[in-house]
Order: sequence, then structure tokens, then C-alpha cells
Amino acid sequence: MKPVRRPVESPPYPCAVCSRASAGFAFSAPQAQVPPVFFCSMHCSEVWMVAHRRKIELTRDEATAALAGGKAAGAFLDQLGRTDLGQLSRVEWAEFCERLTRGYIEALQRQADAQVPF
Ligand SMILES: [Zn+2]
Repeated sequence: MKPVRRPVESPPYPCAVCSRASAGFAFSAPQAQVPPVFFCSMHCSEVWMVAHRRKIELTRDEATAALAGGKAAGAFLDQLGRTDLGQLSRVEWAEFCERLTRGYIEALQRQADAQVPF
């Protein structure tokens, strides 16, 4: 299905980011029921896009894997006997991050293995 484009009328004043006069840069979400927004420059349009980027929701499997990663990283903190991340050395911080990430990835891999039918 081809998205319906709303006609763009004369650019309204002001730029959605900095309030300067808009200058032909606009954003219009194809499925949204909101009017288009206008910008004075590509820079302002990029600022607006970053600020209005939708948050990516984790799937249930990803949320479960995130907890597994947190548990692995927490076990490392228990091993060190510290909970204040600001007190970790650079090497300990790197190890904490690796265990968090590795725990997340390995949990996703276990979930994927459990779902493969062969
Ligand atoms: Zn602007």
C-alpha cells in the first residue's frame, strides 16, 4: 500500500527546533495524524529526528536476556565485593561490561536454541 502524502502548504513559521523561519525542510510521518513539522536547515531537522526517535521496545526474550546479563555482571560485582561502579578500575569496568554483554548474548542464544525445531 502506497503511503498517503498530505499536501504541504506554505511553510509555517517558525522552525520546530530553533524558531527561526523555516526554509523548506519538513518532516511528515506517512501514517501519523499529526501535521508536518518544518525546519530552517538540515541541521535542525537532524536534531529533531534524534529527539523524536522512537524508543525501541525490547521483546520478551530480549528483556529476559537483559536480566540474565545483569545477573552475570552482578555476580562479578559480588566476586569483587563492591557495588559502586564508580569505584571500579578500568580493567574491572571492562570486565563488568563484557560479562553483562556476554550474559545477554548467551541468554539469547539459549532461547534461540530452545526454539529451533531440529
Ligand atoms: Zn532551525
